[in-house]
Amino acid sequence: MRPYEVIKAKRDGRALEPAVIRAFIDGYVKGDVTDYQMSAMTMAIFFRGLDAKELGAWTRAMLESGEVLDLSETPGVKVDKHSTGGVGDKVSLSLAPLAAACGVPVPMISGRGLGHTGGTLDKLESIPGFRVDLSIADYRRLVKDVGACLIGQTATLAPADKKLYALRDVTATVDCIPLIASSIMSKKIAEGIDALVLDVKVGSGAFMKTLDDARTLARTMIGIGSEMGKTVVALLTDMDQPLGRTVGNALEVKEAVEMLRGEAPADYTELTLALTAEMLVLGKRASSLDDARSRLAAAMKSGAAEKKLAEIVKSQGGDPAAIADLSRLPKAKQTIAITAERAGCVIGIDSEAIGLAAMLLGAGREKTSDVIDPGVGFVLEKKVGDPVSVGTTMVTAHVNDDRRFAEVTERVRRAYQIGPAAPPRKPLVLERLS
Ligand code: URA
Repeated sequence: MRPYEVIKAKRDGRALEPAVIRAFIDGYVKGDVTDYQMSAMTMAIFFRGLDAKELGAWTRAMLESGEVLDLSETPGVKVDKHSTGGVGDKVSLSLAPLAAACGVPVPMISGRGLGHTGGTLDKLESIPGFRVDLSIADYRRLVKDVGACLIGQTATLAPADKKLYALRDVTATVDCIPLIASSIMSKKIAEGIDALVLDVKVGSGAFMKTLDDARTLARTMIGIGSEMGKTVVALLTDMDQPLGRTVGNALEVKEAVEMLRGEAPADYTELTLALTAEMLVLGKRASSLDDARSRLAAAMKSGAAEKKLAEIVKSQGGDPAAIADLSRLPKAKQTIAITAERAGCVIGIDSEAIGLAAMLLGAGREKTSDVIDPGVGFVLEKKVGDPVSVGTTMVTAHVNDDRRFAEVTERVRRAYQIGPAAPPRKPLVLERLS
């Protein structure tokens, strides 16, 4: 079939055969299918969807557009985690060393931040010397020898997704469940995993605004995983405020180390433990989630998890002394308090607005070419449920360049919703699907 006929078939709601999907995606990678044809196709998928057979074929074609790593030289079940993205989400920084310290090999290929969300790679690079651009050969070696390696996407893994994601980003086709699910799963399977834990965020600042949509996305990814012989467990988690107290690269690394020491806020600690416990069970290093929790607690208490993080840092060219002594991480020149203008109780914090305000400080990128300032960001002194009076510090901003600070303050104040009384407490983990 010619690209025109394939697009027309999908537009009219007809199912596409696996061979047709494969030819269309291969053609796109080679340049025989143009950007405008693929744009029309993704928009047709946005409206018509993909059935299970089509979705399997679409994901497989994306996966096999590049190298699919086989990490069988590393013994054990290799498990990674993927989060659909949140503000202040530094879970990977503490989860990878915790899982590795408990014996689960973690191959992790992560992303950079764009817009309001932060990226694991940018956070890691705030550790002096840390390199995320290792070769695939080094990645393989470190997963085997250290137990975890965290690097950036390479040109050889799922290249179809790289090209397609950039196109979806500018054609209003990112928020489409089959396209999100195939994009994430093709990249994760290419990195060499046996099993995967998903953190699907639900809430105002998340891709998935409702529990129903989050459930559909999770079930779609679990389905793709099972078709490809990978076990996938998903937690649907609340994201109605930033996670933990810090937003900004070095500030988040500091909080991640504090988590491993048992000194971090309850929401961030709980989410990390819930996700890592699933990894230990999938990785056959714990017989149950309760057993996994006790193993994780032991790895924190003995210092084994922090030691593993320092080992990961050293193995990737970073300065492990910056983990033992957090004052060696980059710091901003000044801190400025952002205070409450009315009294009451914090009833919500708009994560997206906080993420965008942090970006204005230099903690994130507006365009992919922007350079990140690792030391800047926010410490959220008040979170949902906390009372505030007029003049109470809600946020401490860590600032280098204060030229846009008036706008930052305005955005932070608007992000904080103040009401008369604390809202009912919601569980962080809303649902577990497997
Ligand atoms: N993250 C991805 O990797 N792909 C998507 O399509 C959306 C989020």
